[in-house]
Amino acid sequence: MIRTRFAPSPTGFLHIGGVRTALFSWAFARKHGGTFVLRIEDTDLERSTPESVKAILDGMHWVGLDYDEGPFYQTQRFDRYKEVIQQLLASGHAYPCYCSKEELEALRAEQEAKGEKPRYDRRWRPEAGKTLPPPPAGVQPVIRFKNPLDGVVAWDDAVKGRIEFANTELDDLIIARPDGSPTYNFCVVVDDWDMNITHVIRGDDHVNNTPRQINILKALNAPLPVYGHLPMILNEDGQKMSKRRDAVSVVDYADKGILPEALLNYLARLGWGHGDDELFDMKQFVEWFTLEAVSGSPSRFNHEKFLWLNAQYIKAADNARLAGLIAGRLAAANVDTSAGPALSDVVALVKERVQDLNALAQEVDYFYAKREPAAADVEKHLSADSHARMLRFAERLAALDSWTAESIHELFKPFCADEGIKMGQLGMPLRVLVCGTAQTPSVDAVLALIGKEEVLRRMRG
Ligand code: GLU
Repeated sequence: MIRTRFAPSPTGFLHIGGVRTALFSWAFARKHGGTFVLRIEDTDLERSTPESVKAILDGMHWVGLDYDEGPFYQTQRFDRYKEVIQQLLASGHAYPCYCSKEELEALRAEQEAKGEKPRYDRRWRPEAGKTLPPPPAGVQPVIRFKNPLDGVVAWDDAVKGRIEFANTELDDLIIARPDGSPTYNFCVVVDDWDMNITHVIRGDDHVNNTPRQINILKALNAPLPVYGHLPMILNEDGQKMSKRRDAVSVVDYADKGILPEALLNYLARLGWGHGDDELFDMKQFVEWFTLEAVSGSPSRFNHEKFLWLNAQYIKAADNARLAGLIAGRLAAANVDTSAGPALSDVVALVKERVQDLNALAQEVDYFYAKREPAAADVEKHLSADSHARMLRFAERLAALDSWTAESIHELFKPFCADEGIKMGQLGMPLRVLVCGTAQTPSVDAVLALIGKEEVLRRMRG
């Protein structure tokens, strides 16, 4: 039975790199009929905040990644971690270390002076035939894991292939602080074990933690999960995505008017592919997804492609849903839609023309109130002559019994013939006069939606 997890630390917002990690873990579980677990890694009491936990839960909900178990909180599992620490002490796989900060600093300075890599010299590590000094009075020790002294730790990474570390590169890791609280790498190990995680799919910033975690799992006689480390997502300049330069939080994407399904589709393509397929839903993704097809090298965020994808999803989205999604933006911009055409009908007409929801919200205003036209548009399209012509066209519109895009359209040809003008000489002035902009969808459809009375009022007003 496949079990995967997403294990974010609640120390900020939900990063889109985190969403991609969650997506791949989720897809792997879904594909194999397995279980996807959400675990909140909040052991860092100083940096973890309830707001950040909320941002993670809201973000998961917004993108629509559903989990089967959790959220589990590490802070609620301290008793269990302490129990396992006792177990490791009892089996001789861990030991108390009474080194003071000052001693460790002196050791580090000494090693650096000799040009050596600074590391703990295992002075409190019990060994056969070694006599330890008596524990200093009144000092609360840390607990260190007794890392093997030689040999290698290796695993076949499901994404990156074989990875090996020599044990000589690894320190005796602190697993409990002087106050008894467990440390990060240790909690991850106990959780992955207790939660029966079969596949640890996470960012490759954790590759260096993996050999330490494997050694602890081995000391506990726990089964080893498969590890798959996902390469980073870089920005368009090939740099690590940063909050300062790039949109990195899920909330940023919601604010930019991105649809969650577009974000997931795009993230799925970052570092994974199925031929040239760009546009696919999550059902299709789950069917296609394999860890072997995940690329071992970083991928770059391509904004143009991303917006193109979002535009496809906007075109395909239900009009009433889109109307609901832009309602708040319209209210904020003081666009009152209560007296005009149904917003979903307006959305149906303009959604082909936009790439995000903000642009969609900005395109619907003139259906409810005429825009103040730009001076250049007025000069170009509404000379005195053409304005007079528009008033003549208003007469024909006024005479219409049925007010539909078709019946309005039927007026165009005869009117242009009578006036000796081309269609553009009718359409553009009409747009500017009625809408206040020359950039609109098909003018007959626009007029039909705005309504006869309002169109005539705007033309004659
Ligand atoms: N809590 C870690 C993070 O947010 C993830 C740990 C893991 O997946 O093992 O980066």
